[in-house]
Amino acid sequence: MDVSIPTRPGPQSSALRTLAGKTAVVTGSTSGIGLGIAEVLAAQGADVLLNGFGDPAEIDRVRTALSGTHGVRVSYSAADMSKPDEIDGMIAQATRDLGGVDILVNNAGIQHTAPVREFPMERWNAIIAINLTAAFCATRAVLPGMEGKGWGRIINIASAHGLVASPHKAAYVAAKHGVLGLTKVVALETARTGVTCNAICPGWVLTPLVQKQIDDIAMREGLSGDDARAKLLGEKQPSLEFATPDQIGALAAFLCSDAAAQIRGAALPVDGGWTAQ
Ligand code: NAD
Repeated sequence: MDVSIPTRPGPQSSALRTLAGKTAVVTGSTSGIGLGIAEVLAAQGADVLLNGFGDPAEIDRVRTALSGTHGVRVSYSAADMSKPDEIDGMIAQATRDLGGVDILVNNAGIQHTAPVREFPMERWNAIIAINLTAAFCATRAVLPGMEGKGWGRIINIASAHGLVASPHKAAYVAAKHGVLGLTKVVALETARTGVTCNAICPGWVLTPLVQKQIDDIAMREGLSGDDARAKLLGEKQPSLEFATPDQIGALAAFLCSDAAAQIRGAALPVDGGWTAQ
């Protein structure tokens, strides 16, 4: 698990703290993209509830560092996103700890690769539960509060695999296409309110989830780590560069801004050209 926090200067000047006074829940934020998003939202002044698995001492270190660096409140919920009652509990905790949920980022996700005919039922169910159903449950739990306040931002971390497919990823591709469908429905149901719902569709981002796929390629094809990484990028991502958690976080922060108030139901790729092909 990578929970390192990039070094940044201390709390930013108030001019850049455009999310001061807002509260954000970021699911799956003990690692990778979710941690990057939590970092950017905290840097802009939002109080944040972190969620995800990992070593409790390490998570506490991250929580304290994020809070100290950016001068915001940071709490943590260990809720399992495959369990709807724990998702409700996480939103209730955010309301207790931070006073409500203005921004929800549905980011937690897992992957499993296998041909359809060999795909284990248990992995299918887990991927649909964590990558799709959890976003529905959390959205349902936060909407009354957001609509009551007349402001809210729901950001779903889908994938290039929400727009196009690859072999051996039946559950993941189905879940991510489903996330885009959910995003559009929520955007329509909230269209006349101050609540918006959009999806970000990353291409390859170098996180533990992708490192595992690089390791699999290296082992299967007898390649070095560098060659396996180049092969993974070369097959899909024309820029031949990874997108970064910081870049995904910056787009999430933009979607929280007033400038993005009329972006509704969009699926925004950050994929080095993957889905332009
Ligand atoms: P990651 O493995 O680094 O992080 C996943 C996070 O989800 C971790 O914090 C983990 O603890 C948490 N998590 C996993 N199962 C959970 C559960 N049951 N309950 C609560 N938390 C749980 O992965 P990542 O690459 O940062 O992926 C984050 C999101 O971005 C996922 O939805 C993934 O599908 C999506 N995504 C990633 C890439 C990429 O290239 N890395 C590309 C497109 C989309």
